[in-house]
Amino acid sequence: MRQLFKDVSRLKDVICEENRPLAPMTTMKVGGDARLFVRPLSLSGLEGLLALLHGVQVPYRVLGNGSNLIVDDGGVDLVISLCSLRDMQLEQQGSLYVEAGCTLSSILGFCIENGLEGLEPLTGIPGSLGGALFMNAGANGVSLGDFVDEICVTTGQGSTWLKVSHDFFSYRSSNTPEGALISAARLKVNVDSHDEWTTGVPSDGSCLKRATPRKVHERIKRIMRKRLSSQPLGRPSAGCVFKNPSVDCLAWRLIVECGLQGFKMNRAQVSPKHANFIVNLGDAKASDVIGLIDFVKERVWEQTGVMLKEEVVIWENETEH
Ligand SMILES: Cc1cc2nc3c(=O)[nH]c(=O)nc-3n(C[C@H](O)[C@H](O)[C@H](O)COP(=O)(O)OP(=O)(O)OC[C@H]3O[C@@H](n4cnc5c(N)ncnc54)[C@H](O)[C@@H]3O)c2cc1C
Repeated sequence: MRQLFKDVSRLKDVICEENRPLAPMTTMKVGGDARLFVRPLSLSGLEGLLALLHGVQVPYRVLGNGSNLIVDDGGVDLVISLCSLRDMQLEQQGSLYVEAGCTLSSILGFCIENGLEGLEPLTGIPGSLGGALFMNAGANGVSLGDFVDEICVTTGQGSTWLKVSHDFFSYRSSNTPEGALISAARLKVNVDSHDEWTTGVPSDGSCLKRATPRKVHERIKRIMRKRLSSQPLGRPSAGCVFKNPSVDCLAWRLIVECGLQGFKMNRAQVSPKHANFIVNLGDAKASDVIGLIDFVKERVWEQTGVMLKEEVVIWENETEH
């Protein structure tokens, strides 16, 4: 690790730190340090970094906004953060170019400023573009993947633009190639079309369209109010812990039926407000959260015969395995 730190520190456009605490960089606020924490400042910095790591065959993990992530108390070895890749611009050919580190809220802010509607259902998802594409984040019947024309993936061999096929994204998942980072994407924009504001026809949700900034802003505020009333946003969490087994079988309902709403394991609790959230009551450890996840899974399996699958990503400590 020491030698790698020296090699990475020499790269252009890359910031490298040792023993960086990860808990403050996740919304769950648990977990240990990254023994090496690397932040490329540009796409070419990222390409240089991945080329070096490929050469020495060192595995790495990618951090977005840390909003779907539980980091082990023992920490992890090498983390790459794309939070500095934040370029965003409307392109001539009718697309919105967005880099991986842009947050969904900054993209929504851009949409308000530029009068573009379509993404409002995703209001309140606290992810970055990269993480939200990797997870195919969605809400209110709309997923980010629906809007994507192509993604730029970066590996040790460089960056490539991939046209997104119909089966690239699925429910809270994507076919991002193994070991590749999503460094940017192009979202579809149809500047000639208008939403129901002018046409009376509801939008099909698959591309960004013209709308008045005021209308986009009003929708965003309405959706945020709904979220505030139904989710425990005052406590640290990683959003929904489990995927819904099917459209008719919702994870939160199974958890409520098993009498687990409000159940605590040390300082982690199944939220009394939304049973598919686990909240950190203050100084929870990752082991409290992971222990509670396992307990909920086991109980739901025993009582209903349904095996829940995690939506959250858990970063286990490599050195323990
Ligand atoms: C209060 C709250 C509400 C939420 N509501 C929703 C919701 O309504 N709908 C929903 O879908 N999710 C929701 N989430 C979960 C979360 O916000 C989303 O999954 C989000 O898209 C994760 O993005 P991130 O940047 O935070 O990713 P991270 O949590 O940092 O990472 C998640 C995974 O993506 C990988 N990853 C990150 N960036 C990249 C990249 N550039 N290239 C390749 N892989 C990458 C990571 O390695 C990790 O495996 C919520 C979370 C919270 C805390």
